[in-house]
Amino acid sequence: MAYISDAVQSGKISGDGKYTKLCQQFFEQNLGFGKTLLTTSCTDALEMCALLLNIQPGDRVIMPSFNFVSAANAFALRGAIIDFADIDPENLNIDPKEIERLVTPATRALVVVHYGGMACEMEQIIHLCKKHQLALVEDAALAFDSYYINSNGDKQRLGTLGDFATFSFHETKNIICGEGGALVINNPAYIEKAEIIREKGTDRSKLFRGEIDKYTWQALGSSFLPSDINAAYLYAQLENYKVIINRRTEIWNLYNQALLPLQNAGKVKLPNIPDYATINGQMYWLLCNDEQQRDSLLKFLKDKQIRAVFHYLPLHTSPWFINNYPLTNLGFTESICSRIVRLPLYYELENEQVLYITDSINEFFK
Ligand SMILES: *Cc1c(COP(=O)(O)O)cnc(C)c1O
Repeated sequence: MAYISDAVQSGKISGDGKYTKLCQQFFEQNLGFGKTLLTTSCTDALEMCALLLNIQPGDRVIMPSFNFVSAANAFALRGAIIDFADIDPENLNIDPKEIERLVTPATRALVVVHYGGMACEMEQIIHLCKKHQLALVEDAALAFDSYYINSNGDKQRLGTLGDFATFSFHETKNIICGEGGALVINNPAYIEKAEIIREKGTDRSKLFRGEIDKYTWQALGSSFLPSDINAAYLYAQLENYKVIINRRTEIWNLYNQALLPLQNAGKVKLPNIPDYATINGQMYWLLCNDEQQRDSLLKFLKDKQIRAVFHYLPLHTSPWFINNYPLTNLGFTESICSRIVRLPLYYELENEQVLYITDSINEFFK
């Protein structure tokens, strides 16, 4: 509240004010990201990626079908053909083998999603992107403060590995400001163009830095910068990110411990953290044996005032996609989507509430 009030009293609450700059510096200097630009959402950051890559009708982009709609929509808006990949049922991330299956001479980019904040197999993915000259976008909406551990044992922060990474600060994520996002540009060749796209296609950012004396329309763009009031909220979150992530991770571990006996008894499948990944407490999920059991578990929990949910629905079977593309079949994605349950997980959730939830799940399976 103090930061929001400070932003308001400073008389500058439009974009690129004091708090926007502080947040961007925090990403670049404290967290080691490349050039970072706050945006109004992760969706907008993904739309910026499609504009930055100058995606044209007929260009092809590979991404998992098991994802939120934003990445697919952002590239489809530019006329790209979306080639949906299947996931690895162990970690629900894109199966790198799918890239070789789907790549064509018209493929321009690959979008990966670190589902639930757990890293994709980045070494293989980066190798394939180099081999096929694909731009790599990390949809890191769920991956704030999570890592990939490479074959030398080095911990690499997710969002530092792609040409671009996109973050979301929507209130359902780890670090929030209501609605907001960021575009990280790790490939410096795109920095100047990104500033122009974000400022309605103009070079106004250069004017603000005193590099030019008037600004003009330079390229296609839009209005992607958030109000400094949102950035003020976000800055306080960033200053406290370790406390937030630690608590969320504690809740994740509590769920995992309390549900392991059910997995051992063969009743459910729990997330399995690969050697190359870490967790950030973004989301706790489990898999039921089939859809009918999943739906009755959700109903059982709802009757106990527990709001567990399932998503995503596969994008390759979504109404928009089947109206525009031939039918495709992605077996693991379809199976996982019909069996997944996501449990409540937020900073304020108390241990006894977590135990009430896990007791209820145990009761259901008895
Ligand atoms: C939440 C989410 C988005 C969209 O984020 P917004 O900031 O709401 O636009 C995109 N991708 C993934 C993986 C998400 O979880």
